[in-house]
Amino acid sequence: MKIKSAEFVVSNSEVEKCPKNQLPEYAFIGRSNVGKSSLINMLTDRKSLAKTSGRPGKTQLINHFLINKNWYLVDLPGYGYARVSKSSKKKFQKFITNYFEQRQQLVSAFVLVDIRHKPQPIDLEFMQYLGESGIPFAIIFTKADKLKPKAIEKHVEDYCEMLLKTWEELPPHFITSSSKGIGQEDVLEFIGSTNDEIEQLKSN
Ligand code: GDP
Repeated sequence: MKIKSAEFVVSNSEVEKCPKNQLPEYAFIGRSNVGKSSLINMLTDRKSLAKTSGRPGKTQLINHFLINKNWYLVDLPGYGYARVSKSSKKKFQKFITNYFEQRQQLVSAFVLVDIRHKPQPIDLEFMQYLGESGIPFAIIFTKADKLKPKAIEKHVEDYCEMLLKTWEELPPHFITSSSKGIGQEDVLEFIGSTNDEIEQLKSN
């Protein structure tokens, strides 16, 4: 998929106020500093569509960007633990769980993880939450330029092994580096072909 246009549409803290039309959307989420803003800018070929950490940004909001006038890229805030944490769901900010549970237009989430680190409990718990809630997701490994190819392979293998302890099937995963422009095509292809499938289902 080629990016022909990418425009900021709206920022919200309430899912009810998100765009009302039925375009498919893909939500990007991860711990803060994982490289989410850089990745969004890399994917869309824009220098500063999403605000990177260095600048004050709309960090606690749901940000909608319209891409090629036919799908939304959604930039969600970095997740953290909410103060009251009894069930796994309650560990995440309410407006984030509201978004995932109420947003009909959501096609898939992309959970970003820094490829350099071992699987972190909060990331695994977030994936667990998505799985239990029936929300499709893929994993995007970020900052691949920081490791040598062999180490990348090993870290991804370790991650998959860990996931297979609780999952029967692995979610799709992508290896990316925003600074080296790695993985842009793979992620965009995935989104493009998923959008095509949705169109086909609609026309049947
Ligand atoms: P966010 O908080 O998840 O939106 O993360 P940012 O995109 O603001 O990036 C956090 C930090 O990681 C910044 O210092 C970026 O320069 C750095 N960073 C982001 N992506 C990459 C990458 O692909 N490679 C490297 N080496 N650094 C990255």
